[in-house]
Amino acid sequence: MKEGGGRKQGAASPCAACKLLRRRCAQDCVFAPYFPADEPQKFANVHKVFGASNVNKMLQVHSSFILNFHSSFILNFLL
Ligand SMILES: [Zn+2]
Repeated sequence: MKEGGGRKQGAASPCAACKLLRRRCAQDCVFAPYFPADEPQKFANVHKVFGASNVNKMLQVHSSFILNFHSSFILNFLL
């Protein structure tokens, strides 16, 4: 088995979203790719604007929304 790249498996540390929401960060957590644990401010910003439950709902309803949300909003908002 070969470990590829520098991607850390976040089993020990939940992503920024789960941390803030105090929920268990599953391996397939929808937030994890967008809100890594080492950038907690990202989710804090989104959380402030939308509210955590809305973000959670949005991300769960449509995975395509994630792309849209991520590229069009988050990048604009965070960069
Ligand atoms: Zn998570």
